[in-house]
Amino acid sequence: MKGLITVLGSGTSMGVPTIGCQCPVCLSEDPRDKRTRPSLLVQYGGHSVVIDTAPDFRFQAIREGLRRLDAILFTHPHADHILGLDDVRAFNIHQGRVPIYGNRKTIDAIRETFRYIFDGNYPFGGVPQIATHVIEGPVDLFGVKFLPVPVLHGFMEVLGFRFGNAAYLTDYGQIPESSFALLEGLDVIFLDALRHEPHPTHCTVEQAVAHAARIQARRAFLTHIAHDLAHEETNARLGGRLRLCYDGLRLEVEL
Ligand SMILES: [Zn+2]
Ligand SMILES: [Zn+2]
Repeated sequence: MKGLITVLGSGTSMGVPTIGCQCPVCLSEDPRDKRTRPSLLVQYGGHSVVIDTAPDFRFQAIREGLRRLDAILFTHPHADHILGLDDVRAFNIHQGRVPIYGNRKTIDAIRETFRYIFDGNYPFGGVPQIATHVIEGPVDLFGVKFLPVPVLHGFMEVLGFRFGNAAYLTDYGQIPESSFALLEGLDVIFLDALRHEPHPTHCTVEQAVAHAARIQARRAFLTHIAHDLAHEETNARLGGRLRLCYDGLRLEVEL
């Protein structure tokens, strides 16, 4: 099945530009240096699935003209990946409840963070209508299998996802050996690359380059990018099949 991937957001947790920052990347006029918080949209067969709902989800959905939302997959419950969840209300009006998927820890953390959604104190609505599902293996969504690919974000297990010949990994400093086995024969991969300086829970560009070389996807894109990396200059240095991704990037894939 043909699918379309759209990068909703390519930035790190504070976004680029970062509030109040006067660095060259935050002041850059290149639209590819404007990075909202990380999220991916996957569309196929008339269905739309998003991976994570960033704090910028409303803005991203409007920017991309998103008309329906059929499911949400969560990688992990950090604020930059979940805080847009309240905005599914706009989709609830036309389509009812939206299913959400995450591992046990993520679903538990979402229930805690968004207690008002679940506590029954809003009998007249005004809160998101969602159905929670704990991921324990591959998830079939409208005829496409989303395979969880565990990665390590410091001590936290985060789920990447493989769907067809594409995979989206974000928020990790390490890819376990067992997960490399799930990443063979890819057309497109998204990899975490925060900046050049080492970070305890994210990859550097150098580490991402090594991962891309090992995984050998036909096209590889770096995401979760901090304001340390200017788009044009970083891309020029990367060369080869590896590119920084940017908000609004669209890719056709076979799912
Ligand atoms: Zn993040
Ligand atoms: Zn995170």
